[in-house]
Amino acid sequence: MNDDMKLVEIDCLCGARDFSVVYERPYPRVLTDVDFNATTDRFDAYGRIVRCRACGHVYTNPRPEPGLIEQGYAESEDPEYGQEAPSRAINAHLCLATIRGVVSSGRLLEVGCAAGYFLNAARTDFEVFGVEPSRWAAAEASRRFGVKVHAGTLAEAAFPDAHFDVAAMVDVIEHLADPAAVLAECRRVLRPGGLLYLVTPDIGSLSAKVLRGSWWGLRPAHLHYFSRKTLSAFLEKNGFETRLCRSYGRMFTLDYWSSRLKNYPALVRAFVEKSIGMLRVRDKFVYINTRDSIEVVARKA
Ligand SMILES: [Zn+2]
Repeated sequence: MNDDMKLVEIDCLCGARDFSVVYERPYPRVLTDVDFNATTDRFDAYGRIVRCRACGHVYTNPRPEPGLIEQGYAESEDPEYGQEAPSRAINAHLCLATIRGVVSSGRLLEVGCAAGYFLNAARTDFEVFGVEPSRWAAAEASRRFGVKVHAGTLAEAAFPDAHFDVAAMVDVIEHLADPAAVLAECRRVLRPGGLLYLVTPDIGSLSAKVLRGSWWGLRPAHLHYFSRKTLSAFLEKNGFETRLCRSYGRMFTLDYWSSRLKNYPALVRAFVEKSIGMLRVRDKFVYINTRDSIEVVARKA
């Protein structure tokens, strides 16, 4: 344990403080802005991950103090994020295809919009707004796509009540220190019957169970690990009715996929790299549904 980093014990989302330790890899250093980048390859240490004995939710406990986390996101700069721009655009369209199945126009808010790829894709149908804690990413989104992004938190953006038709959080809820507070704010700014769209890693998935402590979803910046069951229950408790909950796949180039594998056990890595080499399509897009993320559409109840 690094003595310079203050860690705080926290209660489960359900309020209980009775847990068992699931995985533990102590932080070897003070976490910095690099650990909070989307493209970080620092998977090596994610602290102590526990499972609540009362409700089954899995979360990081103890966790770095809130000030350090907030500062980490605010200062995070991630120039590598743009290198997979075409893949990110395609992933955005996959998410939007699901959203359009339920609502096809209106105002769309993305919480944690990073450099704005999803917002840019959504502009064809929606009037879009973003919120992003990283000052660098918020500026990138404005510069690159000219979209309106508030640099800071959702609460600070102070949107009017019932302003949005859709609120989206793609790979965001697992990073939030207080996801209930953010859901409450999403609920406030959504119109009655408005739509919440979420994507998050699935701790209940087969690959999470097989890869255990080496699963890609376990990362220093992740504070909450939902399964389909715990996420649906959490949404319901916070005033959202789950309409769709399914496994989610991601589109990346094979080079990106293989680079993401560098912290995986050698056997898994060798298998994937061999498959990639055999296919001889390193620069092609491949839709790989590893079935270890959850895609959820919920309605404001
Ligand atoms: Zn609990």
